[in-house]
Amino acid sequence: MKVTVVGYWHAYPEHGEATSGYLVEEEDYKVLLDCGSGVLSSLQAYCQVTELDAIVLSHYHHDHQADIGAYQYAQIVHKGLGTKRKHPTIYGHIEDAQAFSKLGYRDVVKAVAYDDGQSLQIGPFTLSFLRTHHPVPCFAMKIESKGKTYVYTADSSYFPELAKFAMGADLLIAECSGYKGDQIAQFGHMTSEDVGKLANIAKPKQLILSHLPHFGDHNKLVEEAAEQFAGEIVLASSGLIKE
Ligand SMILES: [Zn+2]
Ligand SMILES: [Zn+2]
Repeated sequence: MKVTVVGYWHAYPEHGEATSGYLVEEEDYKVLLDCGSGVLSSLQAYCQVTELDAIVLSHYHHDHQADIGAYQYAQIVHKGLGTKRKHPTIYGHIEDAQAFSKLGYRDVVKAVAYDDGQSLQIGPFTLSFLRTHHPVPCFAMKIESKGKTYVYTADSSYFPELAKFAMGADLLIAECSGYKGDQIAQFGHMTSEDVGKLANIAKPKQLILSHLPHFGDHNKLVEEAAEQFAGEIVLASSGLIKE
């Protein structure tokens, strides 16, 4: 199972980059976890927009789903051009019915609701979900294939069940929206210290810090997380690949 960081910024896409988007691949299957602003453009460095089997959205904040409209238009264009394309499904939760109703588009994009009480099979991937602590309903994801387990925290403040959910993952992609001491738990986000604490309990083989802030020196985030977690920590960057 290969994962490529398509975008990693917190709120908006800095020049030439993107907010949350992670391309997960196994065999011929390609699944995109979140589709924030700039993701559709950045994605094309790694695959065609017609090649995705599915997009799975953690929640409906702009930095996680802003490019869904652009993705729908891309499908319409390529259908019109007769391009060979997959028949993609966008998976989202249904707790915001209005947001969910905008995911499907004509006959080119299907929308399917996921349920955090049930696992979801997409090709070779088995996904399961955990509700996070965030101002709107949001779900962390565990994606398993061929004996490997990757966990993506989506957006959340720290809570012990999140660490339990991520326990023993081969790879943990954790949101790290602030530096040690920043008061961001109230906004449903984690600091480097929180992520270090999470990883120290979950003990992933590798930790990627993502959803990075638009200020400060990101290397400091790694140092601060490392005060809590002794394992391998890397900063997300456009095109970072792990497998
Ligand atoms: Zn959010
Ligand atoms: Zn976010």
